[in-house]
Amino acid sequence: MSIEVYDTGRRPVWCPGCGNFGILLALRKALAELKLKPEEVVIVTGIGCHGRMSDYMRTNAFHTIHGRVLPLATGIKLANPELTVIGHAGDGDAYAIGLGHLPHAARRNVDLTFIVHNNMVFGLTTGQVTPTTPRGVKTKSTPFGNPEQPLNPVLLALASGATFVARGFSGDVEHLKELIKAGIQHKGFAFIDVLQPCVTFFNTYQMLREKVYKLEEAGHDPSDLESALRLAMLQDGRIPIGIFYKTQAPTFEEAFSHAMNPPPARRTPKPVDLSRALKR
Ligand code: SF4
Repeated sequence: MSIEVYDTGRRPVWCPGCGNFGILLALRKALAELKLKPEEVVIVTGIGCHGRMSDYMRTNAFHTIHGRVLPLATGIKLANPELTVIGHAGDGDAYAIGLGHLPHAARRNVDLTFIVHNNMVFGLTTGQVTPTTPRGVKTKSTPFGNPEQPLNPVLLALASGATFVARGFSGDVEHLKELIKAGIQHKGFAFIDVLQPCVTFFNTYQMLREKVYKLEEAGHDPSDLESALRLAMLQDGRIPIGIFYKTQAPTFEEAFSHAMNPPPARRTPKPVDLSRALKR
């Protein structure tokens, strides 16, 4: 299938060079290679520069309120398990405003893919600190440098029980495409944190190109949770990308099947004939 099938024809308004372009291209390529028809896919986006994904993907789409991608995506999947549901959120949307939803979607193992456009800054609101901004970085809201320890999304997802945890880089579209394909094919909650430079407010292209390396080339076994946790906590100046962890577990839809396929309603009892009952 051609990637043009998923193109709405609308010209993206992102800044030239924005990492969102790489994620958009990787997603279209992944869907095309999986031969998924546009009507079989639902894209859910939140608030932020990433939110435009739902305008540029010719699939079903829902552009929801800030931080609520996962509840929407969960509801859509439960209402129609036949659909391929893909949630997109920014680091502000997923790790600040909507953080409470991530551990619960992970532990429930809802069968959907969650892609976080992690540019480590609030881009749409012109460059404020987010939970993943590195310590010391100057932003509009931290003019003396970010004083906080950044959140570790991969570690959080692993600790929450996610059954598929990966990290990608928008500057490596082919590698990211493979991660998205693997996430969609995974039965359960697939979490993909994507390092995505914001060329206007926090251009990390050079830093990321120098630091990223591929887990599969380093011989990592994605079935090894302890090794995944160690890699997620590593602070040796390099940044691993690829699948950290993957396992199989019952999905939320399977555990919830009694509610999704309720037994036939019990027959309504016949009305009592009071006149006969009183004669007894
Ligand atoms: Fe991309 Fe940053 Fe521009 Fe937003 S502000 S479109 S994230 S480069």
